[in-house]
Amino acid sequence: MPIAPNTSRRALVIGGGPAGLMAAEALAAAGVAVDVHDAMPSVGRKFLLAGKGGLNLTHSEAFEPFVARFGERAEAIAPLLKRLDGPALREWAQGLGVETFVGSSGRVFPVDMKAAPLLRAWLTRLRAAGVRFHQRSRWLGWGEDGALRFAGPEGEIQVQADAVVLALGGASWPQLGSNGAWVESLGARGVEIAPLRAANCGFDVGATAAHPDGPGWSAVFAERFAGLPVKPVALHIEGAGGRRFERQGEFVITASGIEGSLIYAASALLRDEIAEHGQVTLHLDLLPDRDAAFVAAEVARPRGPRSLSTHLKSRLGIEGLKAGLLHEMLGKAEYADPAVLAARLKRLPLTLVAARPVAEAISTAGGVRFEALDAGLMVKTMPGLFCAGEMLDWEAPTGGYLLTASMASGRVAGEGAAAWLAQQR
Ligand SMILES: Cc1cc2nc3c(=O)[nH]c(=O)nc-3n(C[C@H](O)[C@H](O)[C@H](O)COP(=O)(O)OP(=O)(O)OC[C@H]3O[C@@H](n4cnc5c(N)ncnc54)[C@H](O)[C@@H]3O)c2cc1C
Repeated sequence: MPIAPNTSRRALVIGGGPAGLMAAEALAAAGVAVDVHDAMPSVGRKFLLAGKGGLNLTHSEAFEPFVARFGERAEAIAPLLKRLDGPALREWAQGLGVETFVGSSGRVFPVDMKAAPLLRAWLTRLRAAGVRFHQRSRWLGWGEDGALRFAGPEGEIQVQADAVVLALGGASWPQLGSNGAWVESLGARGVEIAPLRAANCGFDVGATAAHPDGPGWSAVFAERFAGLPVKPVALHIEGAGGRRFERQGEFVITASGIEGSLIYAASALLRDEIAEHGQVTLHLDLLPDRDAAFVAAEVARPRGPRSLSTHLKSRLGIEGLKAGLLHEMLGKAEYADPAVLAARLKRLPLTLVAARPVAEAISTAGGVRFEALDAGLMVKTMPGLFCAGEMLDWEAPTGGYLLTASMASGRVAGEGAAAWLAQQR
């Protein structure tokens, strides 16, 4: 249903990330006067960072598997994605002059891979639609009379608005503006919030054979291999509650543990297991393309005067980082026993003891619970207050799902706010 122009009403969007900008776009399209406040000197900083390694805007898979990526929150996210799913987001980008393509993994990127041209075109269009931006304006919460308090370059100001969309992000990469401080302000008003936790994050390893006093890699291993990828490799995890993860891919060694796409994909399970049991042991298959019998036969093959490492390199291609991992994780006796060594090549246990802090994570799990919100993402107990983006209680793996859900929820919150304002007239 088209909404009548409503310019006598003012909406505030707080947070100029992709969710907030999408909310502003929806409000402006409904004829509402919109002011966007953001704590940082410029908006969309995390969006721009996301573009650094190639902006993965969305994913090309069908709606059902796409929604399933949101796990326990799939049911809550589905109606949001119906307002802006992968194909709709690609069309939206095209409307800004940004063509997209589907990469080999099914992920969708702008043709030039960058976020900056898209953000530039978007801001130009929003300004043309009358959206006003207030940068370096950090929301502090509410004053006694219900006015919104902002800290800006000229000190504190108070602002009244008819409707407010909060799109304040999670708590990862706080240097880009989202620091999770909103949890206190909203929590104090009785809004239900699931604790913020790291999602799509790295992990610290426990003690290793080469560093038995752990946690963490031996200094020699960390120095030599931190920053390098382990690939191809398969990851097997059996969670205590029957949750399993099994996938082939690659990950990266860090100074104190592991991170990267394969680890991010498993990170919710790993994080939850560590939270419950203090640690989790995963198993690595260093030769995912070889079966166990082949590996055992190759390891056991007579090697004459050749060293075991030369033998592993020539028979199985195990060298460099993978060879280093074996030395790091296996005791001398295990390494020297062909049957044990062959078994470990296919199933190398690695214990993780901590998720890296949320500030280092790609995204944040937890946030404002969907139960606290109505279908238009309005806080049920605070009429006129809407929430969107990563500050809502959902999580998803990397693959374009994070941006898509952030922007879809921004659109729903913006439309919800516009409809609510129209009702109030
Ligand atoms: C390194 C990295 C790479 C990523 N790559 C991808 C990718 O390729 N694809 C993908 O789908 N996702 C990616 N993501 C995740 C994606 O960027 C986020 O999920 C998305 O930006 C969340 O959007 P948002 O608008 O909810 O929050 P944010 O983008 O965090 O925006 C929130 C805004 O609110 C402002 N703000 C916060 N608190 C206040 C306050 N108190 N007052 C005023 N303003 C405030 C912040 O300054 C910020 O501008 C990546 C994330 C990281 C860290």
